[in-house]
Amino acid sequence: MTKQFPAARSISDFLAGKRRTVRAVDGVSFTIRRGDTLGLVGESGCGKTTTAKIILGMYRPTSGSVRFEGHDLHKGTSRADRRTVRRDIQAVFQDPAASLDPRMKIGQIIEEPLVIHDQGTPANRRETALGILQAVGLKRETYSRYAHELSGGQQQRVAIARALILKPKLIVLDEPVSALDMSVRAQVLNLLQDIQASFDLTYLFIAHDLSVVRYMCHNIAVMYLGRIVEICETQELFENPLHPYTKALLDAVPIPDPTKIRERVPLSGSIPSPMNLPTGCRFHTRCPFVMDVCSKVDPVLQEVSKGHFVACHLYDTKR
Ligand code: SF4
Repeated sequence: MTKQFPAARSISDFLAGKRRTVRAVDGVSFTIRRGDTLGLVGESGCGKTTTAKIILGMYRPTSGSVRFEGHDLHKGTSRADRRTVRRDIQAVFQDPAASLDPRMKIGQIIEEPLVIHDQGTPANRRETALGILQAVGLKRETYSRYAHELSGGQQQRVAIARALILKPKLIVLDEPVSALDMSVRAQVLNLLQDIQASFDLTYLFIAHDLSVVRYMCHNIAVMYLGRIVEICETQELFENPLHPYTKALLDAVPIPDPTKIRERVPLSGSIPSPMNLPTGCRFHTRCPFVMDVCSKVDPVLQEVSKGHFVACHLYDTKR
């Protein structure tokens, strides 16, 4: 799928009649199997969150499609069908304090999706909400509290409870522990793993912290400037990273052993603007292995070993 946004025009663009677009997502394609967790990693502005918002129905793709159990989420099916499918896809965002209405009690927040989807009586909804509160490790009394009375970790548990109440099949987790204290991160990650098994969930896990992604995900897709540059199983990515950008990302993860010295892939410069993408390989302006072909030919994602795909001319099978 692709997603382009119209960019603000400068005066010279306006006078010249030029329109510019931001190619936030530019030809991304992947599959998530039921019960799996796919991690989406990359620097800020690489298109991870835009991809997530397309899957959540918050944006329409400019081209391409998102298929969920065979249904195209953006066209083809009726509005009622799309509404039903959307119930199966929920989200948990980074900042729990910002995603919970401070004027509503926790019980109302958790029950709200049931009200919107017209499910159950008030008594049923209350029972369901109390059950979900327990499932996410919160006490029944939390039902009558307000978000500001809870800690960050408890607030994120409420956000997870709200995502679970409709019994979804897929949850998009957009940096779900980044805003939390170190001490509660592991608890929330363990909770997410426990409920994945007990609620039969599939996750799309967006994060920039590679150690968290390693702990949580079955497969990882590395994004750079709106494209997936490498995708494979988690263990394979950490043991045998191929793309120079992936290597640079992994090199930035600290090793908790002062005696180990890692050979680093030096990464220079900042990420180019998605309004003015480099020709050929988008990474060529920063890549330490750049070759002549790199600025001319855009590398395609190709399978270099079973289930390991990379978009880089260093691994071109036809060269
Ligand atoms: Fe580097 Fe060339 Fe590979 Fe791009 S295609 S990552 S510039 S070696």
